[in-house]
Parts: sequence; structure tokens; C-alpha cells
Amino acid sequence: MDLGIKGKRALVCASSKGLGRGCAEALAEAGVDLIINARSEGPLEETAKALRDTYGVKVTAVAADITTEEGRAQVLKAAGAVDILVNNAGGPPPGMWTDWEREDFIKALDANMLTPIALIKALVPGMMDRGWGRVVNITSQSVKSPIAVLGLSNSARAGLTGYVAGTSRQVAGKGVVMNNLLPGIHATDRAKSLDTGVAEKEGITLEEASAQRASGIPAGRYGTAQEFGATCAFLCSQYAGYMIGQNVLLDGGALITTM
Ligand code: NAP
Repeated sequence: MDLGIKGKRALVCASSKGLGRGCAEALAEAGVDLIINARSEGPLEETAKALRDTYGVKVTAVAADITTEEGRAQVLKAAGAVDILVNNAGGPPPGMWTDWEREDFIKALDANMLTPIALIKALVPGMMDRGWGRVVNITSQSVKSPIAVLGLSNSARAGLTGYVAGTSRQVAGKGVVMNNLLPGIHATDRAKSLDTGVAEKEGITLEEASAQRASGIPAGRYGTAQEFGATCAFLCSQYAGYMIGQNVLLDGGALITTM
């Protein structure tokens, strides 16, 4: 399917691996030139090369921590004007509500709420001037149904969701479409590290911990980065022009809700 975005330019944050890479791959397949980012240079350069070689698009790789002001400045300088912004960063660590102090919350808010907001502020005005833009924020299913051990994530992502709900309606009239994409459990390093924590705590193997989690998902398995990326590319396509401020859940049916 031609998504109608060939030749557009996208910044995909935190995209050397996992869900961010899935988004970068699907956009590259649609003919979009990319600025990709992650902290570790080696894996990022490998991903950039793979995307160039496979899809023939232009890919600029910027190794920087997107959650810091300096990192964002580096990425924004290399990116220049972009048509598409995919906001992503690593998720906060799990823990107990009694353990989290102010500093832990500030860190989580910086990474998963204030970073995407800063990038939206930096890039959306240009999109509005040009009359076309797409923003996809990778959040989490925890926005709809909080995960107790991920209280830092629940809090920061709920804040971003509130901001997007209001802001998306303020920019839609200028052709900028802003939505959130909510992953349920996907087979990435993040899922593996959460499962490893459960395995250690319960004295079971990693495979047993993953199978235990998968059994609670109606689809009976974890999602893939490819499936996630395809939905992201659709939200960035010409066909998503009337979808404003939505929270699109990809969770294999795990959350039992009517809407
Ligand atoms: P992942 O497989 O661990 O990949 C994370 C990617 O982000 C890597 O490329 C990593 O590269 C990069 N990254 C991490 N922190 C960064 C930073 N500060 N600055 C720039 N790049 C950074 O994680 P994932 O599973 O794709 O998860 C992506 C997001 O979705 C996370 O926020 C996660 O909490 C959320 N999520 C995931 C799931 C799931 O099941 N996978 C479910 C719900 C929510 P470097 O380490 O080299 O920086």
C-alpha cells in the first residue's frame, strides 16, 4: 500500500532497536528519509546502514541521549525541518510506590513527558507553517490501565497524554496530525528485561516468565516491532489526516475494555 509519504523526512527518536526501530523500518519502507537516534553509537550506525541498504532512503544517525537538553539540541540541529516526529525513549525502571522519591519522578517526567513536549514545541511550528505534519508519541498501555510496578511510567505517560489531548486539537487546523501509540507487551529488549526481573523474583526461567505473561494476552503471544511499526507508519500516512488526538492501543486484546 502506498502511504503517500515518499520523500518526507522523519525524526524517529530512540530507534536503534525495539519499537523505535520498527517505526523507522516501516517509514523507510514507505520511502521516508530518516534521522534516527540512540545513545550507543555502534548499534545505531548498524541500524542506519541496514535501513539505507534495504530501503535506499537517506538516513542520518545521531548518537545522543534524547532525554537531555544537550542531546536534543544535537538531534534537532542534525534534523533541521522534518515532516514527521516519532517520540520515543527508554521507559523508567520498575519498583515499589514506597521507594520513589522526587528525583525519580523528575527523571521519569524528563524522559517520558517533557522530552516529547520539548521536541513537539521545537518541530511542530515548522510543520504548521508548511501545512502538513505528523507526530506519533510512543506511550504505553499503562495509560489506559496502570501497571503497579511501573508507577513512574504510569505517571509520566499520563501527563504526556493530557498534553497531547489538548495540543493535538490546537494544531490540527494547520494540517498537523498528532496521536499516541500505546504498546502492550512486545518482544523487545525492554520486555526481556522486565521478564528477567520477574524470573529472578519468582525463581523461574526467563522462558517460563515470558510464557506466563503471554498466556494472559488473548492473542496468545507478544507483539512484534514490525506490527508496531506498520501502525506507526499508517498514523504518519496521508490516510490518517482525520485522526486527531487518539490513543491507539496495540496489546493483543490484553486490556478488557469496550472502547
Ligand atoms: P528497547 O527494545 O529497550 O529499545 C529502546 C531503544 O531506545 C534503543 O534503541 C535504545 O538505544 C534507545 N534509547 C533508550 N533510551 C534512550 C535515550 N535516553 N536517548 C536516546 N535513545 C534511547 O525498548 P522498547 O521495548 O522498544 O520500548 C520503547 C518504549 O516503549 C519504552 O519507553 C518502553 O517503556 C515502552 N513500552 C514498551 C513495551 C514493550 O513491551 N516493549 C510495552 C509498553 C511500553 P540506546 O540504549 O543505545 O540508547
